[in-house]
Amino acid sequence: MAGYEKMAPGVFRIRQEVRKGWVPFAMNLYALPGTDGLLFDAGSGTKGAVAHVARCLKDLERETGSRVRQILPSHAHWDHFSGASALADKRPMRVLLTEAMVPLVRTRACYRAAYREGTSALRPRAGALNEACRALGGRLIDEAFSLSMGIRAVTGPFSPLAVGDHLATDAGTWEVLAGPGHCDAHIMLWNAETGILLGGDNVLSHITTWLGPPRSDLIAYQKTLETIRELPGLRLILPAHGRPVTDPVKRTTQLIAHRKKRLTEIREKVEAAGPRGLTGRSLVRHYYPRMAPLKRSIAQGWIEATLLYLLQEGDVARTAEKGLWRYHPL
Ligand SMILES: [Zn+2]
Repeated sequence: MAGYEKMAPGVFRIRQEVRKGWVPFAMNLYALPGTDGLLFDAGSGTKGAVAHVARCLKDLERETGSRVRQILPSHAHWDHFSGASALADKRPMRVLLTEAMVPLVRTRACYRAAYREGTSALRPRAGALNEACRALGGRLIDEAFSLSMGIRAVTGPFSPLAVGDHLATDAGTWEVLAGPGHCDAHIMLWNAETGILLGGDNVLSHITTWLGPPRSDLIAYQKTLETIRELPGLRLILPAHGRPVTDPVKRTTQLIAHRKKRLTEIREKVEAAGPRGLTGRSLVRHYYPRMAPLKRSIAQGWIEATLLYLLQEGDVARTAEKGLWRYHPL
């Protein structure tokens, strides 16, 4: 059985699953064969995951008589770039990166630093000893998570790519569009002839996109959703996770409304708390009362991003109390 499926003429989806990892994980990579052809997103870097993709590409090249020779991550999150260098080692492929991605993905240390540095909206920095213990704990969790999920930096050579570039494939020409918000270094591929968008993580059919500090931006995300909704002739979004979005304008409109609603909710909750204010942690408990801690630490990202946004906008103030931030209306 082929490990890939045809989503549209010249557009193939390779599904990748990491079954033994910490969290169940499934990813869609899109192969666009052509004279030079490309793979949009590289997925996990575990041995099994990379071998599966390499096998699919070989079969696909045989079936189509075309080639897939470039690898382009949609953004600088581990599940999108980790397989890139390993694939380029295994097959005649080269990695493409935008300027914004480069400083985030070249080493594991810079990736970790780019997402971890002192950005909690729930608690202020503690004393040096406490911070050092936390950092060590975080590092150990991070190492174990990385090993089981196959997080790997893009260490090999790469070619630069920029927003506005065009990539030729058997399915026509794809334009590189900027799509910041979920991650600042996020791009999408748009095919104006067929109305198909390879949207990365920006519009998913089954869940709302993760947002959280330090690299998500609520306003940039809203703008990206509006840009997507206005693409002339948009007919299908192929996302990096989950099912295709077959009603893209409707789904994008839903997501825009959802984010606006959440922003209003948080603003009103802080308002209603009065001068005493409330902690970010109480908001997390309100939205996710029964969720397991690890899952909750991921789910709460949008609450943190929203509080930081309101703070930056001058809508709320905050004070430190008993090792937590309290947010107050102004
Ligand atoms: Zn992502």
